[in-house]
Amino acid sequence: MWPGIGRFLRWRWGRLTLQTVTLLVAAFVIYDGLTGPQRAADNLATVTVWLHYRGVLVLGLLLFGNLLCMSCPFTLPRTLARRIAGRGRRWPQALRNKWLAICVLIVYFFLYEWLDLWASPWWTAWIVVGYFSMAFLLEALFAESPFCKYICPLGTFNFVSSTISPTQITIIQPDVCRTCVGKECINGSAQVLGCGTELFAPQITSNLDCTLCLDCVRACPYENVALPYRSPVHEIAQPGSWPRRWDVSLLVWIFAFAGLSNAFGMVPPVFELQLWLAGVLNTTSEFLVLLLIFGFLNVLLPVVLALLVAWSSRAVVKRNEPLRVSLARFTPALVPVAFAVWLAHYGFHFASGALSIVPVTQNFLLDHGVTLLGEPDWMLAAIVPMGWLRPLEIVITLIGFGVSLYVVGEIGRKIRPKPFPLIGQLPWVLILLLIAAVGIILFNLPMEMRGTVFFN
Ligand code: SF4
Ligand code: SF4
Repeated sequence: MWPGIGRFLRWRWGRLTLQTVTLLVAAFVIYDGLTGPQRAADNLATVTVWLHYRGVLVLGLLLFGNLLCMSCPFTLPRTLARRIAGRGRRWPQALRNKWLAICVLIVYFFLYEWLDLWASPWWTAWIVVGYFSMAFLLEALFAESPFCKYICPLGTFNFVSSTISPTQITIIQPDVCRTCVGKECINGSAQVLGCGTELFAPQITSNLDCTLCLDCVRACPYENVALPYRSPVHEIAQPGSWPRRWDVSLLVWIFAFAGLSNAFGMVPPVFELQLWLAGVLNTTSEFLVLLLIFGFLNVLLPVVLALLVAWSSRAVVKRNEPLRVSLARFTPALVPVAFAVWLAHYGFHFASGALSIVPVTQNFLLDHGVTLLGEPDWMLAAIVPMGWLRPLEIVITLIGFGVSLYVVGEIGRKIRPKPFPLIGQLPWVLILLLIAAVGIILFNLPMEMRGTVFFN
């Protein structure tokens, strides 16, 4: 682990210190969300969660790793629950996969559009309360941190994104692990917890399911666990890093298409589509119209395209293998371009409104009689010239596309006993092209500003 930062993170109270900071932020979010002005751009809840949290999240994942899970405040009541209730029962076998997480993620994306969560301080505050409650309840009832591993939509987003992060938990000397009796990195000891999501450090090949809590680092009595930098494509370009499971593969496809649909939800064509669909169905139900649009974009389209791409790739090379295996082989290559779309979108909002936290905080303090920071300056918003944003979004998407293409080639080259034929890689190249092209088209449309006030 790195000097300075490494010592802090390894320190017994390092994570707790980070979590205390985010816990305080969460407390302000809940308080201002429930009692403050119910206008998105003026409220700490909406500005902090939908502008800053998401911007910091994607930048953290890109530059470091799963920082937000590492400093997640929701695990504090979870730890308390574990101490009160002891180790609970095992999470049901039927739910030990990503299906539930996929469902929760889809519901979350739908609620985001239907309830305009980004515009509602009140809803934002209740989401945070709900997170704390669920984490506490599930940890009190079950072992194995089921909330993080099997349910949390933020964790699910972070797990997929962190597969291209530049860090990964790694052991230093395999021989030390071979002779280790206690396996404290996973089992824990009387003083320290083992891995909450039950990953065994010597066998880790992926960041999927790693919350970067560093409990394994602190638990290993031989100081044999490290968090070194790695190539961002180290994991996804390596066949066999991920389990070949339907749920894992489809999660990535839904992650990719939800990135596009999330951006689509903010540009003019979505409103025209809503009107058209409402007219065709002769309905005034926004719920029904949005359910059809986002059900199609986030579920039906990715699932059908995933099956089609995997099937056509298998068919052209005449491989006799389960479709599940064909799908899993190149699915990791979707992550760079999919993450690039999320990064471009969230980065756009963050870059165009990051400084708005200053006047919003000033306003919050003034409302509570604190004049320390003076009058709010509502002109503060963007951290880069607005003219840069669109080119930056396009460049980010193109870089993601380029990295995805490279990963397809690398996976194909490493397939044994002989490389996967180029013709079989073509359907995957086409789907990457489609994702990047749609992303660039969306980023070229006027995008609704969320959580930011602009004065001309
Ligand atoms: S990482 Fe540490 S605790 Fe885990 S098996 Fe290796 S030596 Fe043992
Ligand atoms: S492997 Fe487990 S204990 Fe180690 S950082 Fe990841 S989640 Fe935490």
